[in-house]
Amino acid sequence: MSLVVHKYGGSSVADAEKIKNVARRIVEVKKNGTGVVAVVSAMGDSTDELIELAHSVSDQPHPRELDLLLSTGELVACTLLTMALADLGQEAVSLTGSQAGIHTDTSHGRARIHSVDTARMLKELHEGRIVVVAGFQGISEDEDITTLGRGGSDTTAVALAAVLEAERCEIYTDVDGIYTADPRIVPEARKLSEIGYDEMLELANYGAKMHPRSIELGSVFDVPIYVASSFNETPGTLIHRIDGDADKRVMEDRIKVTGIACTINVAKITVRSVPDQPGVAAALFEPLAQSGISVDTIVQNTSEDRTTDISFTVSGTDLKAALAKVEELTKEIGYGALISEANLAAVSVVGSGMQHTPGYASRMFRVLADGKVNIDMITTSEIRISCIIREDQAQEAVRLLHRGFQLDEPDE
Ligand code: ASP
Ligand code: MG
Repeated sequence: MSLVVHKYGGSSVADAEKIKNVARRIVEVKKNGTGVVAVVSAMGDSTDELIELAHSVSDQPHPRELDLLLSTGELVACTLLTMALADLGQEAVSLTGSQAGIHTDTSHGRARIHSVDTARMLKELHEGRIVVVAGFQGISEDEDITTLGRGGSDTTAVALAAVLEAERCEIYTDVDGIYTADPRIVPEARKLSEIGYDEMLELANYGAKMHPRSIELGSVFDVPIYVASSFNETPGTLIHRIDGDADKRVMEDRIKVTGIACTINVAKITVRSVPDQPGVAAALFEPLAQSGISVDTIVQNTSEDRTTDISFTVSGTDLKAALAKVEELTKEIGYGALISEANLAAVSVVGSGMQHTPGYASRMFRVLADGKVNIDMITTSEIRISCIIREDQAQEAVRLLHRGFQLDEPDE
C-alpha cells in the first residue's frame, strides 16, 4: 500500500471544527487506498501559552520539565484528531513521539533526531489504522522527553516520511504554498509551483516559515515535500530535487531570483579592538555555541595596529544572554568595548541562478540604495545574498527587492 505523511500545523488544528476538517481530509485520502501517518502540532498558540505559563512559575524553567510540558501541547492535538477520525468510522491511533519510536539526543529544547524505530507505526499501519503522531518531540537516551525546537513538527514529519519510505510528505498550513516573498508584505508575490531543496533551505533559514531542518532532511533522504493549505484545495508548492535548475536560468539574459526572504528581530553585537591573533574568534564563539546561542552573520574587519573589530548577529531574543556571555569573556581576556544594537532585520535574495551569473549583489545594493535603505552588514552564500538593515525599513526593502528583481512579473 502506498503511504503519505501529512503534517498539520497549529493553525490547522486550532479548534474543534478545524480538527474535524482535518479528520475529513485524512479520511478522503485513506478511502483512496493510501495509508496515512499524520503528524500534528499543538492547537493554535498553545505552545506559546505553555511557555508563558512556565515563566509565570519560574524565572528559568528547568529544560527537562519545560520539554515535558511543551510536549503535552501536541498530545492534546493528536488525541483529539484521533477521536475525530474514529467518529468518522476510521480506525486510528495516536502516538507520542516516544511511542512512535523517535529517538533524539539529550539537548532539551533543540534535540536532534538520532533514529526512528518504525516497528509500532508499521504494526498499526498494517492493521489498517491511521497513525497520528505528536510532532516536535522524541525521547532521549536518558529516557527523557525532548522537543526539537520551535516549529519542529515539520522535521518530525519529514523524518517519518524518510524512514517509512512514504511517497511524499505533505505539510498543511494556513498559507497555500511558498511564495516569492511574504504575500502579507508584498501583495504581488507569486506562488512557486516548485522549488529545489537548496533554495528552499535558504528561504527557510532566512524567513520563510518552515523548520529548516525539515528541508535538510528532505534533501538528504530525497523526500518530496508538498506545502499547501489545509483550508482549501488550491495547489501548493512542491519542494524537491530540481536538476539542471541553475543552468536553465543562466541562459536567461536577465537576472532572475527565486524569492526574497526576511528575518526580523535581529540584533548585532560588536566587540571592539580584539587582538588580531589565532584563537580569538574561537574563544569568542565557543561559549556562545555551548550555551545554544546561534550566531548568524559574522564580520571581522582587517586589522590596523594589530587589533580588529568583530561584529556578529544573533536573534533579538538571545541578545541579553549573548551579551552576558561576551561580557564575561571581555573581562577575562581584557578585550575592548562592547556595542550592541537591536531592532535590525536581514533581507535576502535567494536564487540558484546566481551561482553563475554576475551582478546580483550590485543590483541588490543599488535597489536598497535607491530606496534609502542603509546596509549594515552583508553576507553571501552561493545562492543567497543577505543584508542586515534597520527593522523598520524591512518591509519596504522586501517590496523594493521584489520589484527590483522583477519577481512580480510572471515567467515567460
Ligand atoms: N508546537 C510547536 C511550536 O509551536 C511545534 C510546531 O508547531 O511545529 O513551536
Ligand atoms: Mg505551533
